[in-house]
This record gives sequence, structure tokens and C-alpha cells, in this order.
Amino acid sequence: MPDNKQNPPDKIVEDRPSNFIRDIVMADLEKGTNGERVATRFPPEPNGYLHIGHAKSIVLNFGVAREFEGTTNLRFDDTNPSKEEQEYVDSIKEDVRWLGYDWGEREYYASNYFDQLYQWAEYLIEQGKAYVCDLSPEESREHRGNYYTPGKASPYRDRTPTENLDLFRRMRDGEFPDGSKTLKAKIDFQNPNMNLRDPVMYRILRAHHHRTGDKGCIYPMYDWAHGQSDAIEGITHSICTLEFEDHRPLYDWFVENLPVPHTPHQYEFARLNLTYTVMSKRKLLQLVKENLVDGWTDPRMPTISGMRRRGFPAQAIRNFAERIGVSKNHQNVDVSLLEFNVRDVLNEIAPRYMGVLNPLKVTITNYDAVDWTGFDAPLDPNDPEGPSRIVPFSSVLYVEKDDFKEEAPRKWHRLAPGKEVRLRYAGLITCDEVVKDDKGEVVELKCTLDPESKGGNSPDGRKVRGTLHWVSAEHALDAEVRLYDRLFNNENPASLGDDWLSAMNPESLQVVTNAKLEPALADVDCQTHVQFERLGYFIQDSSGCKGKVFNRTLTLRDSWATFEKNQSK
Ligand code: ATP
Ligand code: MG
Repeated sequence: MPDNKQNPPDKIVEDRPSNFIRDIVMADLEKGTNGERVATRFPPEPNGYLHIGHAKSIVLNFGVAREFEGTTNLRFDDTNPSKEEQEYVDSIKEDVRWLGYDWGEREYYASNYFDQLYQWAEYLIEQGKAYVCDLSPEESREHRGNYYTPGKASPYRDRTPTENLDLFRRMRDGEFPDGSKTLKAKIDFQNPNMNLRDPVMYRILRAHHHRTGDKGCIYPMYDWAHGQSDAIEGITHSICTLEFEDHRPLYDWFVENLPVPHTPHQYEFARLNLTYTVMSKRKLLQLVKENLVDGWTDPRMPTISGMRRRGFPAQAIRNFAERIGVSKNHQNVDVSLLEFNVRDVLNEIAPRYMGVLNPLKVTITNYDAVDWTGFDAPLDPNDPEGPSRIVPFSSVLYVEKDDFKEEAPRKWHRLAPGKEVRLRYAGLITCDEVVKDDKGEVVELKCTLDPESKGGNSPDGRKVRGTLHWVSAEHALDAEVRLYDRLFNNENPASLGDDWLSAMNPESLQVVTNAKLEPALADVDCQTHVQFERLGYFIQDSSGCKGKVFNRTLTLRDSWATFEKNQSK
């Protein structure tokens, strides 16, 4: 089905809460602080795939710039060579683009600034504001002290600029073993803020870098690289998560003490956490490495690529990110709010079809009484005059096993011996006979249809409450369908510490291998979100696209109530 419906422009989310970063940007624009310019950046470290937490940062950084006609740089923070890989760079680009954001030519790498950073390090040495320190990592830690213990001066703190310059150059040239020396900023070894107690700027590390190769053996630390990269790129608002709040004085110290071309400012917001989810890349990597999931793109993963494969629309993720707002308060958002946003979008865009996951054969014994070969059914039941497809009908059908009960309770409106139900779009049938196999299992129902009920209307106004989905046996497509549930049973798996894996939900994936789908689904392309009536939203799995493997994105309804309850707390 050709459909522009699947990629509509965003409607503005009306219930968007305030966003203090946006307010700061607006105020700065009014004051003309940065020459009426907004420049943000999204700075992923290419050591894993992006997750829904990153999506919040992407929507914020790109969103604010877009709103105020600014720019957003995609900057790979590749200062940590041993953990970074090209695969991650590629996946990050794909995910940002898929989320709907375009960085144009603005693709940067912190590693591109290694030479400039090196020159600035020499500059600080010459100014007497950096020194080469021979303390081992353990000794350095001990000298720094902690919140309660004052720091001690490194015995190498008073080396002269000449000596430091010589040693630093020899560090760069590979004269010293890994970890034997560092370059430290000479700030204040007793500052109450630990980040200012002579922080390390460079370490010696012989590791292969995904861009610079084996060329370098000293690598800049995050704090040294980040603000200077912002300064080089002319970033006005450098937005990061709260754990960097205490690093801000260091960020500012470097910028103030260097001849940088521009003064950027850092702003912090609370990172997103989701219930029933782990978000740390280290944990996600462990799930992948230990084959506990089908790679980073497993549809149960909180990664952007997993959510895409699961069938979460990009627009739903953007809406979610807008609706949760931006603040400095710790955020542990109910995952059902994300799911609500997914259903909200899919309900609008997904055409309806029928499929049976657990087929039970139904034979229409009086099929000869009608000439029904198929029904023209709308793809959107709310738009009966809109696009439609033919749903073929025949004497043998499949219905859902769960829709039959031999001993039905009083309020059962589905199939049972002697009961009449409506087959969606087709007509009314009554169950006359139940056929069982040797083991006593129900294998077939024999039913009669009311020839006067074409389309599903009851001819004499008699009440038929239940409406079932169905598929014609001879026309059905065979398919595999994967049903997903939450990957963890525990609301906060990370709270279990090292035991977090024990919270994995053993039933998070259920594979149905003998699903029967209506034939029109053969023509649905891989990216199209669909609804199987009564069962949920589905999309074809990207790995088995042509072989008809469907992933269930979500069921149609959920305990949305839980979210509302939490909201009113
Ligand atoms: P992790 O600690 O899991 O490795 P990270 O913060 O180191 O994640 P980066 O690749 O450095 O991951 O993050 C890139 C950007 O995304 C940063 O600006 C970071 O603040 C932001 N970000 C990462 N995780 C979240 C989150 N859960 N919520 C909001 N923003 C996040
Ligand atoms: Mg990081």
C-alpha cells in the first residue's frame, strides 16, 4: 500500500511540558549572548549502539536548534580508543537519521582535534598550569584524597615548564611505558570539588584507534577534550547529563585558561531511565556479548535500532521525548508511557488486517448455500470509504484457538457449542459440532452460517455480541510471528547490583511458527506498520523481510492505568 500516512510530519505535541534548557536558549537569544546564534551538538561515544536515553538527548539538542534556526553538530567523542569501533559509528549515524534529524556536513570527531589539543596542552605547560606527573594511577588516587580527606600535592607538581615540556614531548614520542606518566592540570590539589584536584589531561596508552590508527600513544581525557571540542566548533549550549554538573568548574577553567576562539557553556539535565529496562551501555554490551539477546538490534533491547526493528515509529519516540520534558530531577519514567506514545501513533497510521496466531479449523457445513468468495474490507475501519482490500472467504477457515471454549462461562461472547458469533466483515456463524483428536483435543469446529447475514448484519435484529477475526484456510499465508514482552521482570533491574541478570524475563520472546495471515499481507512492504485486528501492531522483521516474519510491536491495549496512577501520585 502506498502510504504517506506512515511518515507524516510531526504534529506538535500539545501536552509538551516546559523545558528549562529551551528557556535558557530563548533568554540568551533575546539578550544576544552568543551573537543571536544557537549551536548545539550531540556527542556520542562510539562504544555501543544508541538507546532511548540518547534519543532524549538527540531530540533536545536537535529540537532546540531546529526551533531557533540554529545548528547541531554530530560529534563522535572518540577519545577512548580501546572501546570504540567503526560499527558503532555507522549505527549511530543510521539511528540519528532514522529519528528524523539531519546534521548535514556537520559530522565531527574529537580525534580530529588531537593536534590542537596537544598544542593547547603545551600552552598550559608554558604558562605553568600543567605538569607531568610520575605517580601511578593508585598513588594518584591516594594523593587526590576524597570528599572527607584533603588532597596532597604530587611530588612532581613543581617541575619547571622546561622540564615538563621535555617530558611531555617524550611521552608523546613513546619513550615511556603505558600508565607510567600523566599530564595533569595544575589547578588546586585541595579544592573541595574533586574534579579540580589536579585532574589528568593525558594518559599514555598504546591502543589502536579506529581513526588515527596506531599513530598516537597519549590520549586526552574526556574532561580535557570535551569543552575544547565545543570551543573549536563554536558550540553555544553544550548540553549534557547531570553527572557532569560537578565537572562544570573544570570545563570553565580550561576554557578560561586557553586562547580558545569561542567560549561555550555547559548545561546539565537529568538522564532518562525507564522502568523494566537497563540503560547502561556496559550492561547492554554484556547482554549482546553473552548472547542473551539477538544482538544490539534485538527488538526487546532499549536501543533505537531494537525499537525500530520492533516497530516503534520514530515519531512516537520523538513525541515521548517531548512529553517527558527536561528537568534536573531524577527521572525514572514508566515504560508504559513510551508504549502509550507508540500506540498513539500506530493507531493513526497502521492499516488493519487479519491474522490468526493459534489456528483452529472451522468448517462451514452449509457453505453451498452462499456464493461468498470474499469481502471488500477497509484498511481503516474509521474510514469505510477509504482504501480497502479483498479478504477471501471459503468453506474452511481458521479462527483463534482462544476464541473457543467447550464449557463457556455465562458472559462468554465468543465461540462455544451452540453459540453464534460474527466473523468480522463476513457473516454470522453458529457452532454445531466439536471435533476432537485421539487425545481429546479440539481440532475442528463445524459451523453453519446464516445466509442472510452477509457483511455481518443480523437479519432479524437478534443480538450477536462477539466478533472474531479469521482467515480463509486455502488463501492463508504461513508466517512466523514473534511476540515480545518486557526483557526484565523487575521494575528497576539495576537496583539488584551484580544480580541484575536474574531479573531477565524468561518469557520475553515467544515464537509462533504456524501463524495464518490473510493474503493481502503478502503485498505489504517491509517498513509498513500494520495492525492485526484484536491482536496488536506488527511489522515485518528486518532480517526475514521476504520470508514473512512479523514482530509484534505491542498489543492493542495495556495497563495504561498504571501510568495514570503514577501521574496522579
Ligand atoms: P553510558 O554511561 O551508558 O555509556 P554515556 O552517557 O557515556 O552512556 P554517550 O555516548 O557518552 O553515552 O552519550 C552521548 C550523549 O547522550 C551525552 O550527551 C549523554 O549525556 C547523553 N545521554 C546518554 N545517556 C542518556 C540518558 N539516559 N538520558 C539522557 N541523555 C543521555
Ligand atoms: Mg559518555
